[in-house]
Amino acid sequence: MRSRYTAFALGGLGDYLVRTWEADAIDPALTAEQLDRQEQQWLRLEILDAHENGAKATVEFKAHCRPFGAGPAVTPQVLHERSRFRRRQGLWRYIDGIIDPPPAAASRNAPCPCGSGKKAKRCCLR
Ligand SMILES: [Zn+2]
Repeated sequence: MRSRYTAFALGGLGDYLVRTWEADAIDPALTAEQLDRQEQQWLRLEILDAHENGAKATVEFKAHCRPFGAGPAVTPQVLHERSRFRRRQGLWRYIDGIIDPPPAAASRNAPCPCGSGKKAKRCCLR
């Protein structure tokens, strides 16, 4: 995730972005040359949540960017996405992502939102 963000931010690394994109998930019309181009100035990456389960992972992030040439007075735009990744041959590859994702479903094993300190399944979900 961080390396792909960095590749987007630096530009000129379209080959790497294609290589770390699931071959059956990438838009066949999308080329490394297109990915080489920086569409905007990327300012910072904020990782909100990450889960890894074997060869699958999800990462929720906010990437802050500003159109090229816009001064610091321009409010940055925020791309908020929850991405799916799959690891094959030791390399994590991007599958797809949901823009402005709804909050992840609360887990029955997570602390109960009522604040009791018990797991939800042993509290209000019992
Ligand atoms: Zn409760």
